[in-house]
Amino acid sequence: MSSPIHTGTNQQGSLRTSDDLLICLACGTQYDEQNLTSCRICDDPRQYIPPTGQSFTTLSKLRSDPANYHLTFTPDEQDSSITSIKIDPPGVGIGQRAILISTPHGNILWDLVAYLDEDAVSQINKLGGLSAIVISHPHFYTTWKDWSATFNNVPVYLAEPDKSWLNRSLTDANVRFLTERHTPLVPDVTAIICGGHFPAYSMLTRSTPSPTP
Ligand SMILES: [Zn+2]
Repeated sequence: MSSPIHTGTNQQGSLRTSDDLLICLACGTQYDEQNLTSCRICDDPRQYIPPTGQSFTTLSKLRSDPANYHLTFTPDEQDSSITSIKIDPPGVGIGQRAILISTPHGNILWDLVAYLDEDAVSQINKLGGLSAIVISHPHFYTTWKDWSATFNNVPVYLAEPDKSWLNRSLTDANVRFLTERHTPLVPDVTAIICGGHFPAYSMLTRSTPSPTP
């Protein structure tokens, strides 16, 4: 197997988001737009338009919403290096979750949720910050550009064949496209393009180093 391609170090975050850009409430996709009537992710047959019709929000509106949106952080019961991150209460997006994987070679955030605020950044900073973001497929792209900007423009890895679904401009973005079926990111984390929901749907695998005898 080839050498790991990711050499970044953990970055502490400082909230840097596009608070007035539209986010589809149904799927969590953020657009480079402030005036939209339809969402191309929801219009696609792999998603759906809610019976109540398409609606949009922004990070600014979500932060002031009486629902008190916030992110929850839940350590994995089997592996303390893994933390699950979700939006609470549910209702923004399709129930996406992100997973923070702590490794000796930097923290990797697998997949994303649309919401982000100061408290969430503070909690991730306490976990060491982020060195990279990796996203499985377009239904989890959500607010990828804001997440990357917040953590000092850490690279966002995603499969090249799905890049037309990014929905935010690549200008000033640090996106690195995966083109191989297997791409070792750090010594124990590998991205695999396997196909599925989208042509380049990806998985992330982790191998735990054997304990020293
Ligand atoms: Zn949508």
